[in-house]
Amino acid sequence: MLVRIATALIVILIPQSQISPPGPDYSAAQQARINAAIATFTAQGLELPKLEIRFSDDESNCRGRGGLFEPKYSPWRISICAVEDYVMVHELAHAWVESNLHHQEKTAYLSRKGLPSWNDPSHSWNERGGEHAAFIVQTNLSTQTARNSRAWRSRVADYEFLTSKRSPLRLT
Ligand SMILES: [Zn+2]
Repeated sequence: MLVRIATALIVILIPQSQISPPGPDYSAAQQARINAAIATFTAQGLELPKLEIRFSDDESNCRGRGGLFEPKYSPWRISICAVEDYVMVHELAHAWVESNLHHQEKTAYLSRKGLPSWNDPSHSWNERGGEHAAFIVQTNLSTQTARNSRAWRSRVADYEFLTSKRSPLRLT
């Protein structure tokens, strides 16, 4: 059973490329969630930038969504309002994508997938390359086993295109 974490907005800084020591304002469960999510990236050799992670049980702090990635702040900010583990992996995936893909790589991914824009809000969620790329990284890192389906083979190939690393879900 998932236990909803009821807290006020809490802030901690994660030093670059490190899992931060337990913050004074985090519960043990929140720190464990952060460590587990970051570990899925480090286990695959994916380096995350310096981030500020906030938790809230009020989705208005995540603009009505489960999580929010905001690169307009320094350091970049992630807000987590949902209890599902994949949400933090998804928002961390946004941070990885934005800190590791340059314009040329983003353009190459857009043309590979036939997507119209990287982050134009006038396009729907699944037409934006930034969302697509974060979803691909998230699903490859937070899924235990992939089916041998066309959809999964495509996700694995997209992950390897984005990261230049072997997907943990590659079957052969
Ligand atoms: Zn997203």
